[in-house]
Amino acid sequence: MKRIPLSAPHMGDSEAKFVQEAFASNWLSSVGPNLRALEQEFTARIGLPVVALSSGTAAIHLGLHLLGVGPGDEVFCPTLTFVASANPILYLGARPVFIDSEPKSWNLDPVLLLEALEERARRRRLPKAVIVVDLFGQSASMDPILEACGRFGIPILEDAAEALGATYKGLPAGCFGKVGVFSLNGNKIITASGGGILVSQERDLVERARFLSTQARDPGVGYQHSKVGFNYAMSNVLAGIARGQLQVLDLRVQQRRNIAARYRAAFFDLDGIEPMPEAPWGQSNKWLSCFLISPEFGCSRDELLAHLDQAGIESRPAWRALHLQPLYASAERYGGSVAEDISARGICLPSSSNLSPEDQERVITAVRAAATRPAASKDFLYPTRQSESPRISLDPGDPVDAKIQNAVVG
Ligand SMILES: *Cc1c(COP(=O)(O)O)cnc(C)c1O
Repeated sequence: MKRIPLSAPHMGDSEAKFVQEAFASNWLSSVGPNLRALEQEFTARIGLPVVALSSGTAAIHLGLHLLGVGPGDEVFCPTLTFVASANPILYLGARPVFIDSEPKSWNLDPVLLLEALEERARRRRLPKAVIVVDLFGQSASMDPILEACGRFGIPILEDAAEALGATYKGLPAGCFGKVGVFSLNGNKIITASGGGILVSQERDLVERARFLSTQARDPGVGYQHSKVGFNYAMSNVLAGIARGQLQVLDLRVQQRRNIAARYRAAFFDLDGIEPMPEAPWGQSNKWLSCFLISPEFGCSRDELLAHLDQAGIESRPAWRALHLQPLYASAERYGGSVAEDISARGICLPSSSNLSPEDQERVITAVRAAATRPAASKDFLYPTRQSESPRISLDPGDPVDAKIQNAVVG
């Protein structure tokens, strides 16, 4: 049986055409028509100037650099996030200070943030910047966060790597900080195979990011450099993929939201499995469908992960809180128990926009099978699957399945 991935790329109809145009015109490097068009199309969508970069991580690195973060500085960062949110702090010789999540959104807790800033202000050790993450595609509680940071004049970098297409109070997530970042990595809601987008309300900041991302070469013909630059530009080939993907972003959001709704309905009657809450202030893109497992479920989160793995289904724990990582064990932090709980009990189920209804059913059946076993018995981890696998009919519309069928027939 085909293994079900957590979050797979899902191409539309135009990506190959745009890539083909790059080949036909020989624009195969980090300048070209696809890049210019991608940036225009992105700007048309979110209403802010952007620069296309080689990854979300590169965009965070450049963004923090442009916010003036340097050696010895401190940067606040939610502890519940992917490690790429925080690593660029270390690239710059600065130190992260981790802040806990609030249960209602799993994102940066605005009350704790304000307390932390007040406490730091008393000690005259305010951070140079605050990173806010829109986790699993859901916007953080931006208004009180903006208010808290505004009070102390601390700039925000919004890491919306996972949240392209999500909204906060009707506006696009990713556009609330002084710098915003999206990722176009292969596992995100849309992909360039690899890539990132940096946005800002300040055109000048975006232009400085562009300059630094292409080795910071001073104007003129000679190779004169006055600032340290980076090689962080996106390729015109990959911009072609991104352009095609941007055309289907709304559809991808709808498809992922449908999957989340289906899981939610399918587990409604089960004890001990609750969906990640959707906060009232916006619409999540449901990049990943996440759930919290409690003891009433019948097996632990880790047992459920193992059970799904045995059933050929890729699921993952929620991000492990960064203050629990060996890399960041010595970092300072405010709170942490909310993030620790989500790290220990959170599970992300397959959420690809091209996950077929049959494969969604396979996931649902496998989760329900794990739930109904008594917690004491562990033998369900290694069952003889053949006899009890749900019946799956091959979807004739799926090219992979069609290929397999043809291979068998031929
Ligand atoms: C994926 C991700 C990144 C990094 O983006 P890349 O394009 O993979 O470098 C940063 N932050 C978060 C929260 C992410 O999920």
